[in-house]
Amino acid sequence: MKSAPARPDVVPFIAAWSGEQRHTRRVVYSGRGGIAFVDEEPEDRDQYGVLWNGRALSQGTGRPEYGNVHPMRQRVAMEHLLCQVCGMPADRNRLGVLWLLEDNRADWKGWPNDLLTVHPPICLPCAGKSVEQCPHLVDNSVAVRVRESDVCAVYGRVWSSSAFGHPVRTALKDVVPYRSTAAQWVLAGQLVRALSGCTFVDLQHELARRR
Ligand SMILES: [Zn+2]
Repeated sequence: MKSAPARPDVVPFIAAWSGEQRHTRRVVYSGRGGIAFVDEEPEDRDQYGVLWNGRALSQGTGRPEYGNVHPMRQRVAMEHLLCQVCGMPADRNRLGVLWLLEDNRADWKGWPNDLLTVHPPICLPCAGKSVEQCPHLVDNSVAVRVRESDVCAVYGRVWSSSAFGHPVRTALKDVVPYRSTAAQWVLAGQLVRALSGCTFVDLQHELARRR
């Protein structure tokens, strides 16, 4: 019988905590088209005018929810290229910023160029610890240096107009590009970057050199 994989001893920076309550706000039609909160504040939208899902900010309160990403911390990490595990700046060298990605090289030629990802980059010590503590990662992941990455979209719940006089939540969660009509109808939960100028690197080699 296989033993269950051990929990990492570090709670990732972008993970949500049970003490960080989700905001439940009433969603209405916006006067500009799309959706709005009935009690909307300017900080509910990002610089592109997209509405963001709210959640209290109280990292470390309650229990960590490993499977749930905190919208604001993910957004800050992605926007400022912070390590998704510790929240410090991600590692950068002449080949670019370090990303540890699920290995999907078979998906298309040139992968991960043009990959849209919600996973923020990582720093070298955290990348080392991640593969040490989660040995399954070694087989399933690949270290990549990314020369350019653009914040280009959000990932979130898509809403729709209805015959009932108010917008309705659809079953769809999707990547929605900024400056699209659909961007007015999404309640964003995570920021998306498109990767380009990617180079595969040997993580063990980089770690050894840094020691
Ligand atoms: Zn880190």
